[in-house]
Amino acid sequence: MPARAPLLFIGHGSPMNIVRDNSFTRSLNELGAQIGKPEAVLVVSAHWPTRGETRVSVSPHPRTIHDFGGFPPELYQRHYPAPGAPDHAVSLIETVRSVRVTADPAMGLDHGAWSVLCHMWPKADVPVFQLSIDWNQPPPWHLALGRELSSLRERGVVILGSGNIVHNLALISADENDPNVPGWASQFDAWATERLVAREDELLARYKEEGEAARIAVAMNDHYLPLLYSVGALASDEKIRFTHQGFQNASISMRCFISA
Ligand code: ZN
Repeated sequence: MPARAPLLFIGHGSPMNIVRDNSFTRSLNELGAQIGKPEAVLVVSAHWPTRGETRVSVSPHPRTIHDFGGFPPELYQRHYPAPGAPDHAVSLIETVRSVRVTADPAMGLDHGAWSVLCHMWPKADVPVFQLSIDWNQPPPWHLALGRELSSLRERGVVILGSGNIVHNLALISADENDPNVPGWASQFDAWATERLVAREDELLARYKEEGEAARIAVAMNDHYLPLLYSVGALASDEKIRFTHQGFQNASISMRCFISA
């Protein structure tokens, strides 16, 4: 019986990180080395929204999806040939009681998954599968589903939410290293950090009550919802440890954490 596998949240930022060597990508290198080789990784990525249903990928050989536009050719030439984890996907379907999860044989790996995994496990030798995010559901629903996934960790499956705590594409700077972090971005990131440290999980699901900064920081919640899966899959006796923090493109929070 493997020990409880780690729980992660990764702020993935721009697809350019695929080809970058920066403090964020180096933090991912270190995380992968620290974790070693788990049974499998379940990724809940901002880039697999579904409506009215939740799906799990079951392909034994998930293809690399280049689901981004306008980037340099070298990004489209990259592939991440990790195996899938259909057996673990089937046990996820059996584990989740509150909703019927549908097996998806066509889904590959979106860039919210492989742009992170390529730095954590560069040999692509850890099986990976993904869970979609039902965008019709309210935030507390996603937190509750994250709790149902928690037991997968007892079977050695790392759960990895991949999004960004602060993400408003309409307001980002074109300069990846722009140091001028707007007040609403640092304010919301600080609010979420305090809630995470205090394990005030329900408050994180009620972020909309935080007013103007929350409204701008989470203008669309596609990148925020993966955080609720990560928080939900934490055990009640666990804390978190931040493995990276800071901003890219001025206002994208790159904050990452692991269970501790
Ligand atoms: Zn993204």
